[in-house]
Amino acid sequence: MILVLNKGLGESEIAEVVSEIERLGFAAQSVLGQANPIVFVTGDVKTVPSHLFSQITGVEKLLKVGPSCPRVESVANAPIKIANGVTLGYGAKPIVIAGPCSVESQEMLLETATCVKVSGAKMLRGGAYKPRTSPYDFRGLGKLALQYMAQARIQTGLPVVSEVMSIEQLEIACEYVDMLQIGARNMYNYELLSAVGKCKLPVLLKRAMSATISDLLQAAEYIMLGGNEKVILCERGIRTFETYTRNTLDLSAVAALKSLTNLPVIVDPSHGTGRKDLIRSMSRAAIAAGADGLIIEVHRQPAKAMSDANQAITPDELTKIVSDVEKIAGLFADDALFSKPCQLSPV
Ligand code: PEP
Ligand code: MN
Repeated sequence: MILVLNKGLGESEIAEVVSEIERLGFAAQSVLGQANPIVFVTGDVKTVPSHLFSQITGVEKLLKVGPSCPRVESVANAPIKIANGVTLGYGAKPIVIAGPCSVESQEMLLETATCVKVSGAKMLRGGAYKPRTSPYDFRGLGKLALQYMAQARIQTGLPVVSEVMSIEQLEIACEYVDMLQIGARNMYNYELLSAVGKCKLPVLLKRAMSATISDLLQAAEYIMLGGNEKVILCERGIRTFETYTRNTLDLSAVAALKSLTNLPVIVDPSHGTGRKDLIRSMSRAAIAAGADGLIIEVHRQPAKAMSDANQAITPDELTKIVSDVEKIAGLFADDALFSKPCQLSPV
């Protein structure tokens, strides 16, 4: 850390700043001979609140050096293994994850899972515990839905992903799924992030509606700090003044995230737009922007879906999207946009 001191400070005042830092348990070295004297502080400064430095008499401002998300920023440049040979991220072909917003019944899920498999998508999604804005809406079949998901995996060979909203649900879900989903509403649930950080399963972390890119990366850091390095980031649209779409899909976040971390980044055009007529074009754009995959809601009878009916596409449309993804990814296969993340934190 670097402390910039007030202009014109005398030697004894600078020495007082240095002693104060040493009293906090850190080494300090002053550099004089310029308008603003500066002091270098060494040691693990994260162990004390930064105001203890900024409030020392004579300190004008504090400059933090080094990454703010060390794990997220330095994670290895390698794809994440999900299950059954499916991998996500660097070096792996972009994949499509698809399935219903909510698991509605065993029959419905198994039929949809077959359609997902036939479309060429590589993973099955399905909500068991549904975060609904209105408490009167369908909130999912819970553990039963997870059991159906596990059956669908046996039937199709597709690895499965489902959302958890609490530590209790997490403990149940770990028995049935291949990947855990932390939804937009829980991206700020730090207890839950720490808990999934202690799991072995990969975690699909969705960006909250109002989260900045930095907020999302810091949420990922919580998970990685727990020991789980298998984090997949997901852009799913943010809230803006626009009401034509359900959310505003921020595809610039894909490029930004890919330049900041080696973690895989996928896009959810379903929640990102809320409109079935926009899903295919946004899917194409996401892959062209460098996304490692897509997560899409599909329903055999979209109009009858018990949740998010407006954004559910048909299996036929899904098949077209999977083919688009292959074509677009093929175009850029030898010309990856991102190979070396830059630093998130300004030095
Ligand atoms: C979902 O994937 O079904 C979901 C609720 O997504 P989000 O958390 O992005 O709203
Ligand atoms: Mn949904």
